[in-house]
Amino acid sequence: MVGSGSDETTGTGKWNQPGVPHKGWRCVDIEERDEQDHLCEMCEARQVRFVHAMEHPAYDEILRVGCVCAGHMEEDLVGARKREAAYKNDRSRRARWLQRAWRTSAAGNEFLNTNDGFNVVIYSKGTIWGGRVEHRPSGYQRTSKLPYATQDEAKLAAFDAMVGMKHSEPWAKGRR
Ligand SMILES: [Zn+2]
Repeated sequence: MVGSGSDETTGTGKWNQPGVPHKGWRCVDIEERDEQDHLCEMCEARQVRFVHAMEHPAYDEILRVGCVCAGHMEEDLVGARKREAAYKNDRSRRARWLQRAWRTSAAGNEFLNTNDGFNVVIYSKGTIWGGRVEHRPSGYQRTSKLPYATQDEAKLAAFDAMVGMKHSEPWAKGRR
């Protein structure tokens, strides 16, 4: 019989296990492994490199799964693929981040204005480093909470904060 749930992805592992919801899941995190060696916890058949962490209100555990199963679990294959593509894009951007042409402000701090509207400033506080990320169109800012031992660490932390802001758009809250 052909129909939903009968293809190779949704026919194995927890897809067949009673008590495991098949839809209504939500992605809470995504990460890249060094190798394609994570066994998808839903189909228990595919080894994946990009791991989508999925949660469900009626299931106790977070399941760490591949893109295809994530798409079925949230009933949005296109959305899952887009999320993974955006994540890969962020990762390659992060790898180039330290090599970008940082400029130096009048106060002597390195800064960068990105094409997507962020101003990132890195500064030293005594022997430690910190950073500030501003979303220029809204003026929304975040300042690092942790001290960083090196300027590069502060730059990478600022990058992660910037990407987090880009995806969560905290400046848009209250406007909906
Ligand atoms: Zn799977």
